[in-house]
Amino acid sequence: MDIQQLIDDIARDIIPYLSAGKPADYIPALAGESATQFAMAVSTLDGQHFHTGLADKRFSIQSISKAFMLAQTLAQTGEALWQRVGKEPSGNPFNSLVQLEYEHGIPRNPFINAGALVVTDIAISQQGDSSAALRSFLREESGEEALDFDYVIASSEAEHGHRNAALAHFMKSCGNIGNPVDQVLAHYFRACSLRMSVRELARAGLFLANHGASPISGQQRLSRSQAKQVNAIMLTCGTYDAAGEFAYRVGLPCKSGVGGGILAILPGKMSIAVWSPGLDARGNSLAGLEALDRFTTRSGQSVF
Ligand code: GLU
Repeated sequence: MDIQQLIDDIARDIIPYLSAGKPADYIPALAGESATQFAMAVSTLDGQHFHTGLADKRFSIQSISKAFMLAQTLAQTGEALWQRVGKEPSGNPFNSLVQLEYEHGIPRNPFINAGALVVTDIAISQQGDSSAALRSFLREESGEEALDFDYVIASSEAEHGHRNAALAHFMKSCGNIGNPVDQVLAHYFRACSLRMSVRELARAGLFLANHGASPISGQQRLSRSQAKQVNAIMLTCGTYDAAGEFAYRVGLPCKSGVGGGILAILPGKMSIAVWSPGLDARGNSLAGLEALDRFTTRSGQSVF
């Protein structure tokens, strides 16, 4: 398979989709991105790296941080993590409040906002400065020391993040948030604000494609079984309430973010990152989904 040719063809073919999506506007600092931008990168386990489009432009990874935060926290906590957060798809929007009340403050999975707030709370209890620990992790896994938070985006979210605050306060009232809510929110917003390019993201995902062992940092980040678990949760819960559509069309574990990025993992082979800030109605990058669909369909490669 000529991966470079394939992604160059995809970048050309998805042009009509670039103007169809709309950048997230509920975080004012994200609303200014032009929807017509596109980038895609592929890193393989045999050490090849391919890219097309604006592959060096850093964007706000937003909820893609939840996959890495889960990996880091699962590595430290093990199975006990699942006493605080579930692992079932929610079928509801990422910031939904509805399921929390009848599930007594235990979020459905670590990738909806409520679940990521609980994972952040656990990470703070373990590591103190959990967002800085995540930044170090991503610096090591991308091989890029310059990766950093976007403090403008983090404070834009803090100012407008009433729904996340409501989720965290509700879970605190149920006893499922241990640290002060303001501290949990600050680390959560900072983690979401990390800026990375698709090239950096594709590299950083390689440990998930390699059964937990990173070919970039040389570290065993997760056990083989934990890497399987994170990939499984990405497949079933990683793309908001469109996980079924992603499994059907893309057939890979994916984690998306409202900054327009999507990380996709082909276990045993490669990690793929796409970015285009125009989102569809469910908050996934519209051109990003189209690109990943074409990638797996034309290459015949997926977990199925
Ligand atoms: N920081 C965003 C929020 O909490 C993340 C949303 C996302 O990318 O899904 O609303």
